[in-house]
Order: sequence, then structure tokens, then C-alpha cells
Amino acid sequence: MSIFGSGQESRGLRQRAMQRIIRARYILGAAAFLTALVLNSGVSWWLSFAILMLLLLGVVALSASIPRSDDTTRAQPVSDPAIFRLSDQQLAAQLPDPLIIFDHEGTILYVNPAANGAFGPLARGGTLLLHFRAPEMQTLVQSVMSDAQAGSIDYSERVPVERWYRATVLRLDQGGSDRQYLLSFRDLTEAHRLERMRSDFIANASHELRTPLASLSGFIETLRGPARNDAVARDNFLEIMQKQAERMARLIDDLLSLSRIEMKAHIAVKDQVDLTIVLNHVVDTLRPLATHLDIEIERHIDPGPVMVLGDRDELTQVFQNLLENACKYGQSGKKVVVELKNNGEGIKATIQDFGPGIPEEHIPRLTERFYRVNIETSRAQKGTGLGLAIVKHILTRHRARLVVRSRVGEGSSFTVAFGPQKAKA
Ligand code: ADP
Repeated sequence: MSIFGSGQESRGLRQRAMQRIIRARYILGAAAFLTALVLNSGVSWWLSFAILMLLLLGVVALSASIPRSDDTTRAQPVSDPAIFRLSDQQLAAQLPDPLIIFDHEGTILYVNPAANGAFGPLARGGTLLLHFRAPEMQTLVQSVMSDAQAGSIDYSERVPVERWYRATVLRLDQGGSDRQYLLSFRDLTEAHRLERMRSDFIANASHELRTPLASLSGFIETLRGPARNDAVARDNFLEIMQKQAERMARLIDDLLSLSRIEMKAHIAVKDQVDLTIVLNHVVDTLRPLATHLDIEIERHIDPGPVMVLGDRDELTQVFQNLLENACKYGQSGKKVVVELKNNGEGIKATIQDFGPGIPEEHIPRLTERFYRVNIETSRAQKGTGLGLAIVKHILTRHRARLVVRSRVGEGSSFTVAFGPQKAKA
């Protein structure tokens, strides 16, 4: 239904006609001039009238055909936008951000559902500052009430879960003596979480790099001082220094790898990759490590091809990390099974070891950056704590899931479950 009535339609028509005439004003002027010229030249009255009509017709046709970039009046008829039928209160109720209106005594007049959801229940007629007791909130409300200048603070709620907001108080301009104020909140919890993750990451990465660096500086000092002429100590120290340098190099490689993968996170994978080739290649690559650790790798890989949409190098990195972990951390089990299944339940690749297993409480955190069940074991195994974080990021890009199952004393299995694959065109 249109919000404009028939009176408005005819007004619109008149406006459009006026605009056409204005647009054709120069042509009309020329037409009038020509007509005067013809009349003065002594041609018959009928011929003059016919010339005038022809000119007018031309003018109308021409002006209608001239397109105008700013011609908003020729837009399609406006259908009734729902917003015009909403009251202010209905609009406030739709807002996702919490919003509270209170009067000059701090009595709550209105609470939108988002505010009730976040801080509620907040009853109408209640006292605002009894609900928001944080000193900075009290100061903000009182200062806006006294000097009418809008103000904002960072406000956090700790219960039931930690949430962060930017709270703003401003005076509503009522035009009367009844003063009313608006308290609104912008949810910054996600931004806060990301900021904290970023600073934790930088702190962890610096710490991981500083440890081998400190060790290197210590050995350099010793080699220049007390151990200057001790050949045996020098060889020993140089070997340790080389290991520390290698550790730093591995860490930097993993950090760069993680950042490369993060940068590609939004680019969809589009190549067809045969998982049997990837898994067989990974097993062949890590066989020397397994032999060195006295581990037998069993393959249960259906004959291929088992095609998934993916990035071959990234998927190779995933299975290399998982198989290397199984060999390193599960070496006491002496056996690792690599299995690829493509049945009615979808495509699943599993790496299973029979080592010490992982206590349940650690499992949800394994893919966090720098999270390790046991730091010393990880370092002894040349771990950086970033392997499973890299795995998680790659799998997210591939829309695949990592399922970890483990029992202490029995071993662990890491399954990569791929989502439904598009049929080949
Ligand atoms: P790291 O570089 O330390 O190996 P990862 O991110 O690859 O880092 O793994 C994180 C932690 O998860 C490891 O330090 C280890 O404690 C644990 N972990 C991973 N795979 C296994 C496994 N197969 N068995 C036991 N623990 C494992």
C-alpha cells in the first residue's frame, strides 16, 4: 500500500510537467523567437500555427528523452517503509544494544529488551544507580546530570561471564522542564577478547624466543671468558648453541606459517586433492623419524582416489604435524595407525597412537597457540606449541573438523572429518 494518496499523485504529475518545461526552457525560447519571425514574415496565420505546434511537439518529445543523473522524481513509487509505522519505543525495542532511559532523579523510565537481557531484570520505576554500582558509572551519571555534557566510560560486568561495554550517558532534549537521560551500551566483549589474544600471543612468542636467545648470550659470554681456552667445553657449548639456534628457527618458521595461513583464511580452497596421495606421501616422508623412534606405521588407506576440495600443501602440513606428534608423543606405544575412510559418514582421516594419552582437561585447549600438556616433553621433542594451532587454522579454511579422542594410558586419535564434497561437474 502506498503512503501517498491520489492528491499527492496529481501534485507529483504537475511537478514533473513543470520540470520538463524548465528543462526545455532554451528550446522553448528558440521556438517563440522562430514563431515571431514567421509571423512577421507575412506567412498565413494557419501555417504559423502549424509550425508552432510542430515545434512544441518536438520540445516535449526532446525534454522527455533527456536523461538526468539527479532526477530523483522519476524514482519508482516508494512502497511503505515499515520504519514509518514504528513508534520510537518499538524502534528502541528492536535495537541489539542495551538502552535505558531515566529521569533527573535516576528513576528508570524505560528499559529495552537488550538491556534486560544483559543486566536485567531492570524494573521500570527502579533506581538506576542501585543496579549500576561501579564508582565510574555513578560518577558518569552524576556528571551528565549536573553539566548536561554527554560522557562515556568503559564498563565491564563480571557475572555470569565477563563482558565489556562502552557506556554512554546523554541528556535527551525534551524541550520541557522534565529532564530525561539515555544510557546506552555498545558491546565490546569480542574486540576485548581479540585484543587480549593478540597481546597474549605477542607475550608468548617473545617469551619463547627470549629463552633460547638468553641461553645463546650466556654461552657466548662463557666462551669469551672462563671457557676461552677449554676446547672440550667449547665443543659442548657450540653444540648446545646450535640446538638453541635451530629452536629459534623452528619457532620463526611456525610463526610465519601461522601468519601465512591466517592471511589466506578467507580465500576459499578450490583445487581437487586426492587424500590417498597426500597421506601416503606424509607416511613416506616421516618413515625415517618413525624408524629412528622404533615405531611401526600401519596404513589403512582405501585405494584412491579420495578427492576433497583443498590446498595440497596445507593438507600435507596438517597430516605431517599430526603424524609427527603421534610418533613423538606416542612413541612408547610402538605403533601408529594412519587410516582413511570414505563411507556413508563422509571422508575421515585418522592418526592414532598407543602412547600415554592426554588427560581430558587438556583436550579442549590443545589447538590454542603455545598450549602444551607438558612444556619439557614438548621442548625435548623439538616442539614449538604451534603445530595444532596451525592444523586448526588450515582445517577451518577447508571447512573440516578436528576430533580428538584420548584415554590416559591407552593413546590418542586425531581425526580430520571433511564436510560434504561438491560432486564433480
Ligand atoms: P608441539 O610443537 O609442542 O608439539 P602441538 O601444537 O603440535 O605443539 O601440540 C600441542 C601439545 O599437544 C603438545 O605439546 C603435546 O603436549 C600434546 N599432544 C599433541 N599430540 C599428542 C599426542 N599424539 N599424544 C600426546 N600428546 C599430544
